Amino acid sequence: MTREGILFVISAPSGTGKTSLCKEIVDIFPALRHSVSYTTRPMRTGEKDGADYHFVSSEKFAAMVEAGAFVEWAEVHGNRYGTALATLEQARVAGTDILLDIDCQGAAQLKASSAQAVFIFVLPPSLEELERRLRGRNTDHPEVIARRINNARDELSQAHWYDYLVVNDDFFQARDLLRAIILAESCRTTRLADVIGSVLNVD
Ligand code: ADP
Ligand code: 5GP
Repeated sequence: MTREGILFVISAPSGTGKTSLCKEIVDIFPALRHSVSYTTRPMRTGEKDGADYHFVSSEKFAAMVEAGAFVEWAEVHGNRYGTALATLEQARVAGTDILLDIDCQGAAQLKASSAQAVFIFVLPPSLEELERRLRGRNTDHPEVIARRINNARDELSQAHWYDYLVVNDDFFQARDLLRAIILAESCRTTRLADVIGSVLNVD
């Protein structure tokens, strides 16, 4: 049974738990590839170049923009992030499902393009809890955390146009909701048009 790969786009205010949820989801669905973005942000402790992001200089990023290498890109919290056209093209040719963890500006660019994608927005249970998580993660300076909290309000105002909303209050419940969305999307009749014919042809 074959079908075309699905492009899943997940956005959430920084600190909501999107990275942790995406890691779980990729473990649950080994065939689902996590798209590795390019960024000018400095590498955090524990991150690996080529696995978490492709960490590049501002000059290299600008050259890639100039060359039309990105299907979407945006400046987020003072750094630039982008999804390479080549990453999506490889997934499309291979028929692989791919998960993009990108901000609302990038998601809006994809929504406006001809790309067919499933858009999922993950919300924190409250802004107070979001701040607790950002502080608890212990990876960003206080001024960076303050900027991320400020941006969260703007990002939440974009949530209404996404296809699905998932509140990450209880982590495992949020993970199960994401799993359910991915499974349901893979069963859409439009994606499985060949199945009915193949069943009817069985002896
Ligand atoms: P994001 O990728 O959205 O910026 P992270 O995945 O880095 O967020 O999570 C931010 C922090 O919140 C991490 O310390 C993570 O362990 C924690 N976290 C994630 N989900 C939950 C949850 N449901 N309840 C409590 N803490 C959580
Ligand atoms: P972080 O620095 O915490 O890893 O990510 C900050 C924000 O950048 C997150 O909202 C994340 O989803 C977003 N982001 C990561 N990669 C991309 C990308 O390729 N494009 C866009 N538009 N945003 C991205």
